[in-house]
Amino acid sequence: MLRGLGANTVQVRRAEQLVGIDGLILPGGESSVMDKLLRLFHMKQPLKDRLAEGLPVLGTCAGLILLAEEIDGAITGQETLGGLDVRVQRNAFGSQVESREESVAVAGIVGPPLQVAFIRAPIVTRVGDGVDVIARLDSGDIVGVATPTMIGVSFHPEVSGDDRLHRLFLDKVAHGHQ
Ligand code: GLN
Repeated sequence: MLRGLGANTVQVRRAEQLVGIDGLILPGGESSVMDKLLRLFHMKQPLKDRLAEGLPVLGTCAGLILLAEEIDGAITGQETLGGLDVRVQRNAFGSQVESREESVAVAGIVGPPLQVAFIRAPIVTRVGDGVDVIARLDSGDIVGVATPTMIGVSFHPEVSGDDRLHRLFLDKVAHGHQ
């Protein structure tokens, strides 16, 4: 998605690679495993440091969970990076069979609602000061939040081919260099 928008990309697998990047996507996956691997590969603290410096970051689904200060439904010992003052409920929609595509309006994105995929997705149950809600479901559940440097969404924005959330993120990355 990012390459399609003209960005240079690299898959970050080691802490040294955090040095040269202007923005980072923490993707979907399994947050408890990502947490374990971040610690195993000594990437947790370097990543926390980069986030604290204001590295623009987009966290999608498990990536949002990694950014959250507090989680409900964590496995024993599961930690997050933190930095985004929200509380999330893991697996809030139930099991894999409850996964689905849905259209969601996102603040800052013009045009029709985004078509996105919820795959064992979390919801945001508390939003701290300085965090904006950018997307809700019809139920009122919060599924998107933002700060000046972070975007966190419960869903996968990359599945449908709609690149507008990635554009919004790249705008944030570019803004950091003004
Ligand atoms: N349920 C996963 C978790 O808790 C997130 C799923 C996803 O990223 N699609 O980490």
